[in-house]
Amino acid sequence: MKTQSVVVCGAGIVGMALALDFARRGVRDVVLLGPPPRVAELGPDDYHLRVYAISAASQAYLQTLGVWALLPENRVTRVQAMEVRGDAFGAIYLRAWQAAQNDLTWIVESAQIEHVLAQALRVYGVQWIQDTLTDFREETGVTASGQSLKASLWVAADGTESTLRARSGIRFDVRDYDSMGVVGHLTCERPHQGVAFQWFQDKGILALLPLPDTSRGHQVSMVWSIRKELARPLLDMPIESQQNMLAERLGKLSRGRLGKLRLHTPIRGFDLLLAQSDMIGQRVALVGDAAHRVHPLAGQGLNLGLADARDLARIMVEREPFLAMGDQTLLRRYRRARAQELLEMRLVTDGLKRLFDLDLPGAVWVRNAGMSLLDRLPPAKRVLVEAATRLSRQA
Ligand SMILES: Cc1cc2nc3c(=O)[nH]c(=O)nc-3n(C[C@H](O)[C@H](O)[C@H](O)COP(=O)(O)OP(=O)(O)OC[C@H]3O[C@@H](n4cnc5c(N)ncnc54)[C@H](O)[C@@H]3O)c2cc1C
Repeated sequence: MKTQSVVVCGAGIVGMALALDFARRGVRDVVLLGPPPRVAELGPDDYHLRVYAISAASQAYLQTLGVWALLPENRVTRVQAMEVRGDAFGAIYLRAWQAAQNDLTWIVESAQIEHVLAQALRVYGVQWIQDTLTDFREETGVTASGQSLKASLWVAADGTESTLRARSGIRFDVRDYDSMGVVGHLTCERPHQGVAFQWFQDKGILALLPLPDTSRGHQVSMVWSIRKELARPLLDMPIESQQNMLAERLGKLSRGRLGKLRLHTPIRGFDLLLAQSDMIGQRVALVGDAAHRVHPLAGQGLNLGLADARDLARIMVEREPFLAMGDQTLLRRYRRARAQELLEMRLVTDGLKRLFDLDLPGAVWVRNAGMSLLDRLPPAKRVLVEAATRLSRQA
């Protein structure tokens, strides 16, 4: 059996980006293993349910990979400002110009990114085995159809339930927030003007992200993080009841900031988890959701995964000539390279989530006063804006 340089297991956005990165950097025998993304064809007025806030660092990476320019311009929404509100008087306004930028972030549907990555992989002739990994032992993996593959480096990009991670015995510590993220697209009465909104409440966190206008009117994408006991009945309701409930609840939560809101798509829910791993094993590296999960309140899950891919490809390709791909020295280098950003993101997202979960006397005042104070401190705000755009970590 031939030993490949790299097998990337999992063809989500992170796995596809990584396989493409290796190929572009001259690793000719990289193999991508995983089922292709299922992309439903949608009309010009319809938008895929999963959308991402792409950070400046991720945008730069997708540009380096040559795929950013392939995204249809009319489906990429520029976010020029963020408005974050607490459950009383607290508010923070972040604007791109505060960090001398035109845009803070970009909202893009997952399917659009998957599509351009798949196109680029074809152009680069990357071998893509459209199968799933079922077993793995000592550098050799076996697929559902019985094919065996051997590689110097295996990368687990196969998501939260990673088979490769489990078969390699790599630790994965999970804390369930007992909450769900409920997503759907809404028509809103007032234009969003390129602003991403977020409301922190003790009962949940609501994000409304700007999307292009359609013939129905102005449009935003909702990510509502709420406890499962509230999410489940909502997900089970008929669509008319969902529309009525969301119009009422979200209208109140958003204090009419975007006028009347009307759901125009089905809604979906996903479990919210905080998870971390050791990142590496014997000849195995973890990337993306296979390696970590954070609360979606900062919209950073995919951005962290793309940064994993970028750092792993760089470290493996720029290795010393006497080290083989997948060597423990290189894997440890990769783990070190990712440690700080992953820790920061865990602390920030989990800390904010806990602060707004607190049900103690005075907690409402403390969190809102903290927000308002931050908003009035220009240096702290510049740091926040830079964190939002991730300027310091551009590829
Ligand atoms: C509704 C929603 C909104 C989100 N919004 C944002 C946002 O705004 N910004 C952001 O940065 N992040 C966001 N996230 C997080 C983001 O979706 C994830 O962090 C990201 O999808 C992780 O990508 P991944 O490629 O690591 O994993 P996945 O997308 O889970 O991909 C894993 C892939 O592995 C494949 N696979 C699984 N098992 C096997 C196997 N045994 N063999 C081979 N292949 C296998 C799967 O088929 C899949 O293609 C959001 C998440 C959700 C659910």
